[in-house]
Amino acid sequence: MSRYDETFDVIVCGGGTSGVAAAISSARAGAKTLLIERLGTLGGQMNVSGPPGFAYVRIINCFNEREVGGILYETYVRLYKAGHALPHLRYRYRAKSGAAFAYVDPEWWCLLIFKMMEEAGVTLLLDSLVVGVTKEGNTVNGVIVENADGRNTIKGKIVIDCTGEAYVAMQAGAETVCVSREEVQPHTLAFTADGVDWDRLLDYVRRNPEEFTPNHVMNPHTGTSPEEYYELLRNVTDIKELGELMGFIELRDMALANGDWHPYSGVGFFIIPREGGHVQAHFQHSTHCGNALPTSAWDLTKANIECRKQLEIAWRFFKKYVPGFENAYITRMCTELRLREGPRIVGDYVLTRQDVLEARKFPDAIGKSSFPAGGYHVASTDTLAVNEDEGSLALPKGSYDIPYRCLVPVKIDNLLAAGKCVSTDRAAYLRYLQQTMVTGQAAGVASAICAQDGITPRELENDVSKLQSILIEQGAIIFDTVERENIESWL
Ligand SMILES: Cc1cc2nc3c(=O)[nH]c(=O)nc-3n(C[C@H](O)[C@H](O)[C@H](O)COP(=O)(O)OP(=O)(O)OC[C@H]3O[C@@H](n4cnc5c(N)ncnc54)[C@H](O)[C@@H]3O)c2cc1C
Repeated sequence: MSRYDETFDVIVCGGGTSGVAAAISSARAGAKTLLIERLGTLGGQMNVSGPPGFAYVRIINCFNEREVGGILYETYVRLYKAGHALPHLRYRYRAKSGAAFAYVDPEWWCLLIFKMMEEAGVTLLLDSLVVGVTKEGNTVNGVIVENADGRNTIKGKIVIDCTGEAYVAMQAGAETVCVSREEVQPHTLAFTADGVDWDRLLDYVRRNPEEFTPNHVMNPHTGTSPEEYYELLRNVTDIKELGELMGFIELRDMALANGDWHPYSGVGFFIIPREGGHVQAHFQHSTHCGNALPTSAWDLTKANIECRKQLEIAWRFFKKYVPGFENAYITRMCTELRLREGPRIVGDYVLTRQDVLEARKFPDAIGKSSFPAGGYHVASTDTLAVNEDEGSLALPKGSYDIPYRCLVPVKIDNLLAAGKCVSTDRAAYLRYLQQTMVTGQAAGVASAICAQDGITPRELENDVSKLQSILIEQGAIIFDTVERENIESWL
């Protein structure tokens, strides 16, 4: 029998953060699970086109409570104990915004995920593109893949779209929404550098704090005044105290006048933790290409070409203008674009900005988040903007619930979505890493239950108690946030 003749309980399409969480949780819940990934590695925007500037962010909410558990937290704890992650850092200048970062080393994250796949018993099919689904009426019952073996069909009881951009849901005929080409947020090609003379750079920072006025820090929602921020910068001794550095305003303006900077993003970088306490500079805002829809290969091609041009300009700028970067060198240019915005499914519930602001609770909660709504990237030296029509980037009153119904596409059966493409309005977009792993884990468990109990994901909406209790057994946080642990004591 060909391996393509096997039937799986659950087929997960896409192996980014949502997909790996979905596959592990589904297999742990006892389902025969297949994960299909386009590339030869797992991780998506975490480690192929990433990592995100502040991965993992907001495991801890603004009330100093932990709001995320489950597979995400498990990976964080394992990496932290092995020396591949930094402790939760609640930067003083972001304290009032509630943001806490917990940086992880993306390469070790990837190795750990491969190990977890094996531990859970997930079947992997890498280097394989899902190009379509098989259906009976409105019910999905398999996928079509193209790879080194040609074109094949694989049968599955439940299919989960974890492609980030709802590619499989669209192939299944599910309803999706996406902003227009003119509105879509700019995409990025990230890169990482080593060899930075941190002492020299921090000396410059201490002497020129006014150079650093990133709008996301000074924005009223953070409650941080420029003077408070400058005071921190005047006394900084370690780049880890900042986690990111955005601004270099005078240098940028000088470079713009000289034609040495491009006008599509601000200047700055984040950090990546490496073995032995080593830190590298990671640039995820230095290239910005707007007007490119992830649903058009021509647009993506244009963005890939444009971002590489900007990358070269940005790096030449850092070497020429920024003290400490004279002998720095690029260690990694991501091979793939980080797609900031794309299609979302229309689900049985659409999470809204108002839900976020009111920290709304739902009976079918599958996890929590406290990420504020309404901030956008723009292809200008401002880097970030808030949609004025929607008011300021307001903070929720606490953690809001993510309802299971956001994962269930209207009209199509036996298909779930997880990760970036779940059902929300634009402002409530659940695209942050921790959110994608929360929805991924829930989709995995829900699919396993549906396959085992012979019900559809929509029928599961009638009684989510089993879903919630298995998620809790798997360590997820659903109903109550938990007190923040003193993780420094673990080492
Ligand atoms: C520039 C940028 C900065 C960001 N910064 C942060 C940050 O600081 N903190 C944070 O928490 N989040 C951040 N994010 C968001 C976060 O990184 C992503 O939204 C998240 O990683 C998306 O996870 P996902 O699983 O939904 O999708 P992805 O990570 O995109 O994974 C999708 C996977 O599906 C695969 N795939 C796609 N199509 C197919 C197919 N047809 N067949 C098979 N496989 C397929 C892809 O190869 C990929 O592996 C940022 C995003 C961007 C773009």
